[in-house]
Amino acid sequence: MEYQHIIDAVMNEKEPLSALALKMYENPETAYNEVKASAWLCEALEHYGFKVEKGLYGMPTSIRAEWGSGHPVIGLLAEYDALPGLSQTQNTYKDPAVPGGPGQGCGHNLLGVTTLAAAIGMKADLEKSGLPGTVVFYGCPAEEVLTGKAFMAREGAFRELDLAFAWHGSSKNHVGLGMGGGLNSAIFHFKGKTAHASSAWNGRSALDAVELMNNGANYLREHMTPNSRIHYVYKEAGVAPNIVPDRASVWYYVRSLHRWDIDELYGRLVNCAKGAALMTDTEVEIEFQGGCYNTMSNKVLADIFAEVYPMVPAAQYTDEELAMADALNKTMPEYEHKKPAEPIHTGFIYKPEEYHISPGSSDVGDVQHIVPGIMVNTASQNILGVNHTWQTTCCAGNGIGFKGMMRGGVWMALAAAKVFRDNSLVDKAWETFKKDLDGETYQCPIPKEVPVPQPQQ
Ligand SMILES: [Zn+2]
Repeated sequence: MEYQHIIDAVMNEKEPLSALALKMYENPETAYNEVKASAWLCEALEHYGFKVEKGLYGMPTSIRAEWGSGHPVIGLLAEYDALPGLSQTQNTYKDPAVPGGPGQGCGHNLLGVTTLAAAIGMKADLEKSGLPGTVVFYGCPAEEVLTGKAFMAREGAFRELDLAFAWHGSSKNHVGLGMGGGLNSAIFHFKGKTAHASSAWNGRSALDAVELMNNGANYLREHMTPNSRIHYVYKEAGVAPNIVPDRASVWYYVRSLHRWDIDELYGRLVNCAKGAALMTDTEVEIEFQGGCYNTMSNKVLADIFAEVYPMVPAAQYTDEELAMADALNKTMPEYEHKKPAEPIHTGFIYKPEEYHISPGSSDVGDVQHIVPGIMVNTASQNILGVNHTWQTTCCAGNGIGFKGMMRGGVWMALAAAKVFRDNSLVDKAWETFKKDLDGETYQCPIPKEVPVPQPQQ
């Protein structure tokens, strides 16, 4: 087969790449703290012959690595941050390896290494074919807080690319078309005046302010677009019931399908905060954490990925892996209603006529508003698996995850091979991209004055 050398170049590295993903599963690091993961990926990229730069864009855990020369310049978007509280052993019941500790509940250990696998395959192809082309591996911190790529974009990243490819672990082998929501993230800090809660009347409760703000925000729900979402958690809410809290804070995500919609809804949320401060005679300070654009799948790239998918070698699961996936499926709430036909997905889903809208977000959306991009999925969980669960953490630490990861790497390298052989695909992707943008231009949603969070370790 014409592309066998690509498949071989990636699959020959199965052992070391799986070992690297396992190391990242065993050492999960949360957003902006990916010190070990980024160092290990840099080491591996250097080992495979890439020119590596670390810590650009004011972000110590970011990576930019490249190989090759000339166009097309294809970017690969790696992520490697873990989620708080999702630590999990290899048991098929909830069993944190470190109680309360972080875990790879979104499989970003696989994501970082899939991207490396794709880079290895693309380099091997360019070397063998002698075709012009450049692979740029972008190590992107902090996807889980949805701000990493916007900070990188603010400092100039991604504009050098012709196309951007991304992969994410999933319960299905899938190319999705459509959009996912963008978001703003902000913490509202209220400051009041403390007092004895039962025998003084001169206190001003910051917690009252948070509750009134939330009330206001909840009343917005009737008057926002159907694909908008508002979520919040308390960050600080006082220390004891008999002390009027002088400090309280609440962290909000505001999501919608378009940047202008997010900005408008966010403005109304800020008014709720200001109104609550006025009502309670407290002060509010807004700590804007950042934001991201909606995702926007490029149809030309989706078609390329669908076309090359049949060349991706099928996963051979062991009996142990199938039994584990089956046991994990039985722990999912929908199991009773939806008994799956197979424990791990082996089919392939691409519905070019279906435009899917998902309110969930990824900061890949920022890149997809700078250059044409696509995110694809291979099965790397049990078939009823859902990201951000302990079951997904479990799969990210064994062959179920590693096999999906290797297949994702092969797939991205095969799609790149198509583009290296037919540069007109880049022009076609750009035509579609411009149509999809519909006159919109990328304005980084994070203002200059917001500092990049630094590692806390
Ligand atoms: Zn994720």
